[in-house]
Amino acid sequence: METLLLTEKQLDIASKLITDGEVVGIPTETVYGLGADASNENAVRKIFSAKGRPADNPLIVHLADFSQAVEYTSYIPELAYRLAEKFMPGALTIVLPKNDKIPAVTSGGLDTVGIRVPSHPVIHRLIELSGRPISAPSANKSGYPSPTTAQHVMRDMNGIIPAVIDGGECQYGVESTVIALENEDTVRILRPGCITKEMLMTVSENVIVDKAVLNGLENGEKASSPGMKYKHYSPLADIVMVESDLKSFTEYVGKHYHEGVYALIFDGDKENFPYRYMTYGADSLQQAQQIFRRLRELDDIHAEKVYVRSPETNGVGLAVYNRLIRACGFEVIRL
Ligand code: AMP
Ligand code: MG
Repeated sequence: METLLLTEKQLDIASKLITDGEVVGIPTETVYGLGADASNENAVRKIFSAKGRPADNPLIVHLADFSQAVEYTSYIPELAYRLAEKFMPGALTIVLPKNDKIPAVTSGGLDTVGIRVPSHPVIHRLIELSGRPISAPSANKSGYPSPTTAQHVMRDMNGIIPAVIDGGECQYGVESTVIALENEDTVRILRPGCITKEMLMTVSENVIVDKAVLNGLENGEKASSPGMKYKHYSPLADIVMVESDLKSFTEYVGKHYHEGVYALIFDGDKENFPYRYMTYGADSLQQAQQIFRRLRELDDIHAEKVYVRSPETNGVGLAVYNRLIRACGFEVIRL
């Protein structure tokens, strides 16, 4: 079966596939998702099997409006409403206690569910047209960089799912910020995204960044966000993050330069950079938008080893750093 590439005008076909319990590649403002009816166990199983995703890694449930969250959760703290008011629709996922309308397969066996209200008109319209809550994890094979174009989805999923909707390139390029709420007034960031810590602090000053965002888990340690424990976002090339200024970075690449070695540097670094390179943007927002695309492109040109200039760890930079540190399996060189 060839996967159909649908246009944004063919949402009726996509909606019928969703209500029939099928899986569709869908553009969102973050990355492309593999969308299916979150309340249909069989449909959700198809997502896990298409991705090769571990069964204990829960799916996020996308709704058309936060007011629908009462249908799928057992308790919504007041803080959740205040955050939703400010950041939804958008790239924020709030983990809440689930009710039995969300099957255990969807929540990876947890008694909580991540709720998001996407702003992208395509997924938003599909939720309305199908009348279903839609789970839509990134539309890549598990472990590989997330897709930010319909062509990326085609490459990973052709022949595996019935259709992909082409909505062009994603606006943000990294997945949503995932948060849990504690003690009625505290926000814990489980996965950083384009809704930053600084932005969340305008609603509650108590915002904690979970340890797993910046570091790997110790042996036997329990993950508060199961997805964070896996090696992730990783291309075939061996990625190494280098924390240093441009001068030391350039010297380091020079010392380790041979066939198959590339540098992934900032736009502003490229003048007179003497080695093979790709760039990934001039500021954190651009880095977020380009990072997965570049990791895929480095595989296309058969890069074997890639030294990456380390991004900032504040603002949206934290999301970029979090993806890169997983892509490199926590191998960081500090000069
Ligand atoms: P993806 O679907 O690929 O965007 O990944 C979803 C991310 O959200 C993973 O890192 C999950 O571990 C995390 N997540 C989803 N639901 C929950 C939940 N109920 N509790 C904690 N983390 C969650
Ligand atoms: Mg993913």
